[in-house]
Amino acid sequence: MKLNEFEIIENFFAQQPIHRDDVVLGIGDDGAIVNSPANQAIVITTDTLLSGTHFPVNTSAYDIGYKSLAVNLSDLAAMGATPAWFTLSLTLPAADEKWLLEFCRGLFALAKKYNLQLIGGDITRGPLSITIGAHGFTPPKQALTRSHAKPGDLIYVTNSLGDAAVGLLLQQKKISIPSHFHEYFLKHLNQPEPRIEVGEQLRQIAHATIDISDGLTADLGHILKQSDVGALVYCEQIPLSAAMQESVSFDIAILFALTGGDDYELCFTAPPDKKNLLKNFSCIGIITEEKKLDLRMKNGTSFQGTLDGYKHFL
Ligand code: ADP
Ligand code: MG
Repeated sequence: MKLNEFEIIENFFAQQPIHRDDVVLGIGDDGAIVNSPANQAIVITTDTLLSGTHFPVNTSAYDIGYKSLAVNLSDLAAMGATPAWFTLSLTLPAADEKWLLEFCRGLFALAKKYNLQLIGGDITRGPLSITIGAHGFTPPKQALTRSHAKPGDLIYVTNSLGDAAVGLLLQQKKISIPSHFHEYFLKHLNQPEPRIEVGEQLRQIAHATIDISDGLTADLGHILKQSDVGALVYCEQIPLSAAMQESVSFDIAILFALTGGDDYELCFTAPPDKKNLLKNFSCIGIITEEKKLDLRMKNGTSFQGTLDGYKHFL
């Protein structure tokens, strides 16, 4: 059945399960109206996902819906924001009802978890592309940024790294991994968990925060550049999942962890006196005055891998 734009909006997006009290007018008019909460700053972010670029073309509609929202929520998490509202601009090659149903199931599963309401958007025809804009709150002056890391800060990550990179190679059928780990790696690629609660918890604790979308070295690099500092990272302290350790050699695991994208864990810096509050996270290094990123191995050498070095091992 061919649906027109208005039927798609009515049948799929207006039927969302989330209804917030601060939304005065949601989907259906020329714009949405929300009540901004007293005494809160509003954090605004947007991200586009293009089929074949930001997810493999064989990704399921459920996963595309989930991930499109997850990557935006990950940006809110990195800012220490509590999610509230989002918009959705969809470019679709065709109005496929089954695809839309599954897309919405993935999208709203995550929206529901964080009480996030879809308040508007747009639909056009063309190659599959999803743009979400997400809005959240922080108490005034408590939003986390990339630019306040200080020499002496410890550097942390919220969880194991590199798993999504393995998931991507698996989904592209470019790597062979024991079959009992497939689901684990694919889930990390397609359904990343935005670290919203961690972001909220890091307000007034972290000096600088970023979410890891392009790989630890690239994203920590943004913190270093924008804070005008350097870092010493102890490679063996970077957490690796059991699945990763059992699937590939240590050298390759470290390459995935340092350079693989799509993990959506947070990387943050905090002064050493906050150490006791941060026991749940992995400390991987320290911020230095010297403006370079030193990836140090236990034997004293510096890590020498190239950005896509892992390709040589496959
Ligand atoms: P306009 O032409 O005035 O921009 P549209 O016809 O594009 O309005 O959209 C009608 C209503 O449906 C608007 O409130 C818009 O925000 C909403 N809408 C359109 N596409 C989507 C979508 N993909 N998700 C959620 N809301 C949407
Ligand atoms: Mg209009």
